[in-house]
Amino acid sequence: MSRPTVLALATLKPAAMQERLSAEYDLRTTIEDAAGARIVLTSGALGLSAAQMALLPALELIAVNGVGVDAVDLAEARRRGIRVTTTPDVLSDAVAEMALGLAVAVGRRIAEGDRFIRAGSWAAGGKPALGRPVIRGRAGILGYGRIGRSLADLLRGLGMEVLYTARSEKPDAPDAFRPDAQALARDCSLLFVTAAGGTETRGLVDAAVLKALGPEGIVVNVARGPVVDTEALVNALRAGTIAGAGLDVFDDEPTVPPALIEAPNCVLTPHLGSATDAARAAMAALVLENIAAHVAGRPLPTPYEG
Ligand code: NAP
Repeated sequence: MSRPTVLALATLKPAAMQERLSAEYDLRTTIEDAAGARIVLTSGALGLSAAQMALLPALELIAVNGVGVDAVDLAEARRRGIRVTTTPDVLSDAVAEMALGLAVAVGRRIAEGDRFIRAGSWAAGGKPALGRPVIRGRAGILGYGRIGRSLADLLRGLGMEVLYTARSEKPDAPDAFRPDAQALARDCSLLFVTAAGGTETRGLVDAAVLKALGPEGIVVNVARGPVVDTEALVNALRAGTIAGAGLDVFDDEPTVPPALIEAPNCVLTPHLGSATDAARAAMAALVLENIAAHVAGRPLPTPYEG
């Protein structure tokens, strides 16, 4: 029997997983060469547009190596009966850890200190600026899903008080609910953005939310760039409306606007949230399990059900 054609727009890590993929399937890497593809493997950032789906008449499954589906045209997938899978849970701890790391890096000026030494400023007698404590602050989590809850566990473990907001209040939550982003920002000094991307959350963190966070506040975004209004953020950083920002995600990756690169007290990372060897291996395993289940006609281990 011929092997099903898989179009891989994203690569799996570690390399052994990619090798398994090419051993088990008829693997193609360009859409022009994959008209017969039944399966597309993509990343959360790349997704799959309706125009791309139109080039793939035999498409049955979109396997996302990640949890964000904002770049997948879900309406078109639904219309055509194309199934979508993601890799939930296995990356949550890694992304939560990254969020905490960014908060500490901003508050304690870790990236700034690193640059200070490398530029020779310390040896030249310079005095580094003071930071502010992070883990005694009150944390607010905007988006209380798998990543948000993993982060909340981590922060509570450090003895922090945690507040959250989401579309709805969670009856089983150990943390206090706030009805919206502004109310959350007003009551915390660290605002962590972990909500899903997409049209519903675009610009959720705007000038009013940043003003509510205040001059001692730090915002950390590990969700999707557009959830935070970039122009409002740059203005807030320049004006000292907030104390700093840690950003792992951007509007138009891999482009980062110069205004953010030049913004004071802003730590930037290139979408590293899930980029640990353990998380990437678990994600790749889940992608392969979903593809294998689909091909065998078994229930999908982690279908997207949003
Ligand atoms: P999840 O379990 O689906 O959680 C998403 C959360 O967002 C839910 O709590 C949801 O609220 C909340 N939300 C959605 N719309 C909202 C709105 N309008 N206002 C307030 N909250 C809203 O997803 P997850 O696994 O935690 O992942 C969250 C996001 O992280 C992903 O969608 C992805 O974009 C991003 N991510 C980033 C990286 C990285 O490398 N930086 C890695 C993985 C994922 P309800 O619970 O009330 O529905």
